[in-house]
Amino acid sequence: MYAQKPGAARSAVVLHVPHSSRTLTPAARGSILLDDAALSRELDHMTDAHTDLIAARAAAAATVTPWTHRNLLSRLVIDPERFPDEREEMRAVGMGAVYTRTSHGGRLRPDDPDHERELLAAHFVPYAAAFTRLVDARLSATGRAVVIDVHSYPARALPYELHSAGARPAICLGTDDHHTPPWLLDAARRAFADCGEIGLNTPFAGCYVPLKHYDRNPDVSALMIEIRRDVYMTEPGGAPTDGLPAVARALTALIDAVSGPAARPAP
Ligand SMILES: [Zn+2]
Repeated sequence: MYAQKPGAARSAVVLHVPHSSRTLTPAARGSILLDDAALSRELDHMTDAHTDLIAARAAAAATVTPWTHRNLLSRLVIDPERFPDEREEMRAVGMGAVYTRTSHGGRLRPDDPDHERELLAAHFVPYAAAFTRLVDARLSATGRAVVIDVHSYPARALPYELHSAGARPAICLGTDDHHTPPWLLDAARRAFADCGEIGLNTPFAGCYVPLKHYDRNPDVSALMIEIRRDVYMTEPGGAPTDGLPAVARALTALIDAVSGPAARPAP
């Protein structure tokens, strides 16, 4: 389950909000071994709370309205940003596309390949297809697509993190060698300059590109924005603080900077 909000016909920008929801399907809830209190704590740690609000505010204030693709289900159903197979390094800690471990390394679900396949077929596959269609539509309408992935991450590392020794800046920009051009990275550095220190690929790296275009299509640009949660909310799982509007304004500035025809220099 996902929602797509249309933007301007001339906008190439797609905001992706994959981790903001706490909603589980009955089938996904049924396979999770935690009681309600433990599940609520796990959702507090793993949900990128209020990133949907940040994206919606930023989109509404943008000069050229971007397109938005939002996951309406929790990442504890499926995580749309993980590879659904052996390519995924997070499988090693029980956090491939279908998590079997909690953020603290405890058991989340039994190992059940049939259930995993059902969840992937019911949610992962249609989600990826819809996102790809949205990117393809921006490509045909404007000749390019700019995917901006909107996440947040906890100020203190959770045990599941594979690269937890890295710096935890206020804003972490996740890049890809083939899909993050210098103009996009520069625009993000300028837009978020007033939000605090900015780091590159630490503590989380990379950005989401539909597999159809991954490593293939230079007209699809992408960048991940990971906002450290104490910048805009009370951790874990609490309300937004008065830091949120500044983050939303910074995202608007980034959208505006890369929406114009001059954003991408002629080859
Ligand atoms: Zn996230």
